[in-house]
Amino acid sequence: MSEIRWLEEVEKRKEDLLAELSGLLRIESVLDESTAGPQAPFGRKIAEALEYMLQLGEKDGFTTKNVDGYAGHIEYGEGEELIGLVSHVDVVPAGEGWTSPPYAPEVRDGKLYARGAIDDKGPTMAAYYALKIVKELGLPLSKRVRLIIGTDEESLWRDMKVYFEREEMPAMGFSPDADFPIIASEKGLLDIRLSGKTEEQPAGEDHWTMVEFKSGQRVNMVPDYAEVKLIGEGDVFELKEKVQDFLLTHRIQGYAEENNDGVTIVIRGQSHHGSEPHKGLNAALEMGRLLGRIPLDPSGQTFVNLLNDLLIDDFYGERLGIAQEEEVLGKLTVNAGVFEYVLGQEQFIRINVRYPLSGDSEDILNAIAAKMLPYGLTITEVDHKAAHHVDHSHPLIQTLSKVYEEQTGKKAQVLAIGGGTFARVLDTGVAFGPLFPGSEETAHQRDEHISLDDLFRSTAIYAQAIYELAR
Ligand SMILES: [Zn+2]
Repeated sequence: MSEIRWLEEVEKRKEDLLAELSGLLRIESVLDESTAGPQAPFGRKIAEALEYMLQLGEKDGFTTKNVDGYAGHIEYGEGEELIGLVSHVDVVPAGEGWTSPPYAPEVRDGKLYARGAIDDKGPTMAAYYALKIVKELGLPLSKRVRLIIGTDEESLWRDMKVYFEREEMPAMGFSPDADFPIIASEKGLLDIRLSGKTEEQPAGEDHWTMVEFKSGQRVNMVPDYAEVKLIGEGDVFELKEKVQDFLLTHRIQGYAEENNDGVTIVIRGQSHHGSEPHKGLNAALEMGRLLGRIPLDPSGQTFVNLLNDLLIDDFYGERLGIAQEEEVLGKLTVNAGVFEYVLGQEQFIRINVRYPLSGDSEDILNAIAAKMLPYGLTITEVDHKAAHHVDHSHPLIQTLSKVYEEQTGKKAQVLAIGGGTFARVLDTGVAFGPLFPGSEETAHQRDEHISLDDLFRSTAIYAQAIYELAR
């Protein structure tokens, strides 16, 4: 067979690709359980986006299947072995401040703007057109190829749980939902909720009573704001001076303010992704450091001691007794992301632990539980995703590297990351694009976009990858 010019094949179809992608982008497919129903577990709009893709597949003569609205697939080819591509059509909420409406796709300066343009509707359509090109060229395949379309990637991955309970696990595959060149290793993830009761005690003159401690929204982010309310009979002026002194010596933003029922202290930190907690400034832990200098009621004191004894200045789990490191994925990291303490009610802390290939989730949980016990906290919720790794000598990586290098002329570096990509739903899967090195990352942000060049280039790469993996 004469050499296939993959990018030219994409160029021939680019008007159709853009039109069909625009239709998909117009669907506001944000998780909405208020409209959930039969065949629509995550809401009407997400179900509509899934059905949009499956109908496209049907129209173009593919075999399709909708697995009760949880996920679906579009299949082509024949053979024993199955190659899988895993993407998703749910999106995060648009948020404010867009230049053009988030669900009215618009091209400006060679870039396509819309919520989902790069995460992950653009790549879903790129993968679909890749499969379509392979089909229309009539290339002989010895394996089946399935584009598996998820619907709950932005939340809890319940889509893939149900899908793979019922459907075949591909022998290998990739997910177009992260970065090029190839991500082959991802840390294990443990989101842990620790909680306990708080105890009300009579106020005393020698201490302040902590009535509330609140910080953080998401377990996988370094919290950039912490707020505490103290009540008591003590000297407010002296307290405010202590706070001021702390803020100055540690060069931290914040303030203490007297109000009707006590004193409110606010500390501002620096937000950062939870996979690199050392790059942020954790407002809650700095608050803990400050409160460590102020006499508190026994219950509040225990909470503050916990922060100081087990979490402050320790991003690698040394004090929790879970520190470890190996060559591929590096060090275990700990991010303490959400804190809430309400006197007379409940206290909880949510922490995000990312462990390398040496890690054992049970050992880590047991160690944390033992350390937390003296402070009155127990583990009440765990969300676990095991560490993921595909050996660099595996044919999957060899093939994708070859395709990437042929089409881009650049070295296909195989990456290991602390974050989690959708590729880990596959037993043998890697993340492969769509974001090229040097391109701007706009997923989850306002004015999310993908450059048309990148969209077409990734479609060409996926088409050749499908052909090479399934030929
Ligand atoms: Zn995504």
